[in-house]
Amino acid sequence: MIIYGTKGTHLHSEKVSGVKCDHCNQQNTHTISVFGRYFYIYWIPIFPLGKKAVSECNHCKATYERKQMNEQLQLAHDNVKRNTKTPITHWAGSLVIGALIAFGIYSAKQHDNNVVDYINSPQVNDIIDYKSSDNAYSTLKITKVTADSVFVVANSMEIKRKRKLYKIDKEANYNAERFGLSLNEYKEAFDSKRFLDVDR
Ligand SMILES: [Zn+2]
Repeated sequence: MIIYGTKGTHLHSEKVSGVKCDHCNQQNTHTISVFGRYFYIYWIPIFPLGKKAVSECNHCKATYERKQMNEQLQLAHDNVKRNTKTPITHWAGSLVIGALIAFGIYSAKQHDNNVVDYINSPQVNDIIDYKSSDNAYSTLKITKVTADSVFVVANSMEIKRKRKLYKIDKEANYNAERFGLSLNEYKEAFDSKRFLDVDR
Protein backbone atom coordinates (compact mmCIF):
# COMPACT_ATOMS: atom_id res chain seq x y z
CA MET A 1 0.00 0.00 0.00
CA ILE A 2 1.30 3.41 -0.94
CA ILE A 3 0.85 5.95 1.83
CA TYR A 4 0.26 9.42 0.43
CA GLY A 5 -1.57 12.64 1.20
CA THR A 6 -1.13 16.33 1.78
CA LYS A 7 0.39 18.09 4.74
CA GLY A 8 0.83 21.72 5.75
CA THR A 9 3.84 23.10 7.57
CA HIS A 10 4.47 26.47 9.14
CA LEU A 11 6.87 28.49 6.99
CA HIS A 12 7.04 31.96 8.47
CA SER A 13 5.43 34.38 10.92
CA GLU A 14 5.72 38.13 10.88
CA LYS A 15 4.38 40.91 13.06
CA VAL A 16 2.72 43.85 11.35
CA SER A 17 1.90 46.89 13.44
CA GLY A 18 -0.60 49.69 13.12
CA VAL A 19 -3.37 47.64 11.57
CA LYS A 20 -6.82 48.01 13.01
CA CYS A 21 -8.49 44.84 14.34
CA ASP A 22 -12.16 44.60 13.32
CA HIS A 23 -12.91 42.51 16.36
CA CYS A 24 -11.43 44.55 19.24
CA ASN A 25 -11.07 47.81 17.33
CA GLN A 26 -7.50 48.29 18.55
CA GLN A 27 -4.77 49.62 16.32
CA ASN A 28 -2.74 46.66 17.28
CA THR A 29 -0.07 44.24 16.30
CA HIS A 30 -1.16 41.35 14.18
CA THR A 31 0.91 38.26 13.51
CA ILE A 32 0.62 36.89 10.02
CA SER A 33 1.60 33.24 9.66
CA VAL A 34 2.24 31.53 6.34
CA PHE A 35 1.77 27.79 5.86
CA GLY A 36 2.95 25.73 2.91
CA ARG A 37 1.02 22.64 1.83
CA TYR A 38 2.68 19.81 -0.05
CA PHE A 39 1.85 16.42 -1.48
CA TYR A 40 3.77 13.52 0.05
CA ILE A 41 4.33 9.84 -0.60
CA TYR A 42 5.68 7.86 2.34
CA TRP A 43 6.35 11.07 4.28
CA ILE A 44 8.57 12.42 1.51
CA PRO A 45 7.38 15.78 0.11
CA ILE A 46 6.93 15.41 -3.67
CA PHE A 47 5.71 18.85 -4.73
CA PRO A 48 4.21 21.97 -3.08
CA LEU A 49 0.49 22.74 -3.32
CA GLY A 50 0.59 26.43 -2.55
CA LYS A 51 0.71 28.70 0.44
CA LYS A 52 -1.92 29.97 2.82
CA ALA A 53 -1.63 32.75 5.38
CA VAL A 54 -3.77 33.70 8.37
CA SER A 55 -3.51 36.62 10.79
CA GLU A 56 -3.99 36.68 14.53
CA CYS A 57 -4.67 39.75 16.62
CA ASN A 58 -2.14 39.84 19.44
CA HIS A 59 -4.66 41.71 21.63
CA CYS A 60 -7.95 39.76 21.28
CA LYS A 61 -6.54 36.65 19.61
CA ALA A 62 -9.10 36.82 16.81
CA THR A 63 -7.84 34.98 13.73
CA TYR A 64 -8.73 35.88 10.18
CA GLU A 65 -8.43 34.22 6.83
CA ARG A 66 -7.86 36.54 3.90
CA LYS A 67 -11.53 36.89 2.95
CA GLN A 68 -12.41 38.03 6.49
CA MET A 69 -9.67 40.66 6.66
CA ASN A 70 -10.14 44.38 6.20
CA GLU A 71 -8.29 46.05 3.35
CA GLN A 72 -5.31 47.12 5.48
CA LEU A 73 -4.82 43.63 6.83
CA GLN A 74 -5.25 42.08 3.38
CA LEU A 75 -2.46 44.28 2.06
CA ALA A 76 -0.13 43.20 4.88
CA HIS A 77 -1.20 39.59 4.38
CA ASP A 78 -0.45 39.71 0.64
CA ASN A 79 3.00 41.19 1.24
CA VAL A 80 4.04 38.68 3.88
CA LYS A 81 2.71 35.76 1.82
CA ARG A 82 4.45 36.94 -1.35
CA ASN A 83 7.78 37.36 0.46
CA THR A 84 7.66 33.90 1.99
CA LYS A 85 9.36 31.47 -0.35
CA THR A 86 8.26 27.87 -0.69
CA PRO A 87 11.21 25.83 0.63
CA ILE A 88 12.98 23.63 -1.89
CA THR A 89 12.54 20.69 0.51
CA HIS A 90 8.85 20.62 -0.55
CA TRP A 91 10.18 19.47 -3.93
CA ALA A 92 12.53 16.85 -2.41
CA GLY A 93 10.81 13.78 -3.90
CA SER A 94 10.54 15.32 -7.38
CA LEU A 95 14.19 16.34 -7.30
CA VAL A 96 15.28 12.84 -6.31
CA ILE A 97 13.02 11.21 -8.93
CA GLY A 98 14.28 13.66 -11.57
CA ALA A 99 17.90 12.96 -10.64
CA LEU A 100 17.32 9.19 -10.83
CA ILE A 101 15.69 9.48 -14.27
CA ALA A 102 18.52 11.72 -15.51
CA PHE A 103 21.10 9.28 -14.14
CA GLY A 104 19.29 6.34 -15.78
CA ILE A 105 19.24 8.10 -19.16
CA TYR A 106 22.89 9.09 -18.78
CA SER A 107 23.93 5.53 -17.81
CA ALA A 108 22.02 3.98 -20.71
CA LYS A 109 23.59 6.43 -23.15
CA GLN A 110 27.04 5.83 -21.66
CA HIS A 111 26.54 2.07 -22.03
CA ASP A 112 25.49 2.50 -25.68
CA ASN A 113 28.67 4.50 -26.34
CA ASN A 114 30.77 1.86 -24.61
CA VAL A 115 29.16 -0.97 -26.57
CA VAL A 116 30.29 0.62 -29.85
CA ASP A 117 33.87 0.49 -28.53
CA TYR A 118 33.44 -3.06 -27.19
CA ILE A 119 32.19 -4.29 -30.59
CA ASN A 120 35.09 -2.68 -32.43
CA SER A 121 37.74 -4.01 -30.05
CA PRO A 122 36.53 -7.25 -28.43
CA GLN A 123 38.29 -8.48 -25.30
CA VAL A 124 38.51 -11.80 -23.49
CA ASN A 125 35.65 -12.15 -20.96
CA ASP A 126 33.29 -9.79 -22.83
CA ILE A 127 29.74 -11.14 -22.44
CA ILE A 128 27.51 -10.99 -25.53
CA ASP A 129 23.71 -11.06 -25.19
CA TYR A 130 21.74 -12.69 -28.01
CA LYS A 131 18.33 -14.14 -28.74
CA SER A 132 18.84 -17.89 -28.42
CA SER A 133 15.33 -18.92 -29.50
CA ASP A 134 11.92 -17.40 -30.24
CA ASN A 135 11.19 -16.60 -26.61
CA ALA A 136 14.51 -16.78 -24.80
CA TYR A 137 17.88 -15.08 -24.51
CA SER A 138 21.33 -16.35 -23.68
CA THR A 139 24.95 -15.19 -23.62
CA LEU A 140 28.31 -15.94 -25.17
CA LYS A 141 31.64 -15.32 -23.49
CA ILE A 142 34.74 -14.33 -25.44
CA THR A 143 37.59 -16.70 -24.58
CA LYS A 144 40.20 -15.66 -27.14
CA VAL A 145 40.80 -12.78 -29.55
CA THR A 146 43.33 -12.98 -32.39
CA ALA A 147 44.26 -10.49 -35.12
CA ASP A 148 41.28 -11.53 -37.28
CA SER A 149 39.04 -13.76 -35.14
CA VAL A 150 36.98 -13.93 -31.96
CA PHE A 151 36.47 -17.22 -30.11
CA VAL A 152 33.46 -17.64 -27.87
CA VAL A 153 31.93 -20.23 -25.58
CA ALA A 154 28.14 -20.43 -25.40
CA ASN A 155 26.15 -20.35 -22.20
CA SER A 156 24.27 -23.67 -21.83
CA MET A 157 21.34 -21.92 -20.11
CA GLU A 158 18.78 -19.52 -21.49
CA ILE A 159 16.24 -17.19 -19.88
CA LYS A 160 12.99 -15.58 -21.04
CA ARG A 161 13.78 -11.97 -20.27
CA LYS A 162 16.78 -10.13 -21.64
CA ARG A 163 17.22 -7.98 -18.55
CA LYS A 164 17.42 -11.10 -16.37
CA LEU A 165 20.42 -12.44 -18.30
CA TYR A 166 22.73 -11.59 -15.42
CA LYS A 167 21.12 -14.50 -13.55
CA ILE A 168 22.57 -17.10 -15.93
CA ASP A 169 25.88 -15.30 -16.48
CA LYS A 170 27.80 -17.76 -14.30
CA GLU A 171 31.15 -19.36 -15.06
CA ALA A 172 29.75 -22.91 -14.63
CA ASN A 173 27.21 -22.30 -17.43
CA TYR A 174 29.89 -21.63 -20.05
CA ASN A 175 30.36 -25.30 -20.81
CA ALA A 176 28.64 -25.49 -24.19
CA GLU A 177 30.21 -25.60 -27.63
CA ARG A 178 33.15 -23.30 -28.41
CA PHE A 179 33.40 -21.68 -31.81
CA GLY A 180 35.20 -18.98 -33.70
CA LEU A 181 34.01 -16.06 -35.83
CA SER A 182 36.00 -13.74 -38.02
CA LEU A 183 36.10 -10.16 -36.71
CA ASN A 184 33.90 -9.16 -39.66
CA GLU A 185 31.33 -11.81 -38.84
CA TYR A 186 31.42 -10.70 -35.22
CA LYS A 187 30.68 -7.07 -36.09
CA GLU A 188 28.10 -8.08 -38.69
CA ALA A 189 26.21 -10.09 -36.05
CA PHE A 190 25.57 -6.84 -34.15
CA ASP A 191 24.60 -4.95 -37.31
CA SER A 192 22.04 -7.62 -38.12
CA LYS A 193 20.80 -7.69 -34.47
CA ARG A 194 21.65 -11.36 -33.97
CA PHE A 195 23.94 -10.14 -31.18
CA LEU A 196 22.22 -7.55 -29.02
CA ASP A 197 24.55 -6.19 -26.37
CA VAL A 198 28.01 -6.48 -24.82
CA ASP A 199 28.86 -6.25 -21.13
CA ARG A 200 32.42 -5.82 -20.02
ZN1 LIG B 1 -8.19 42.17 18.06
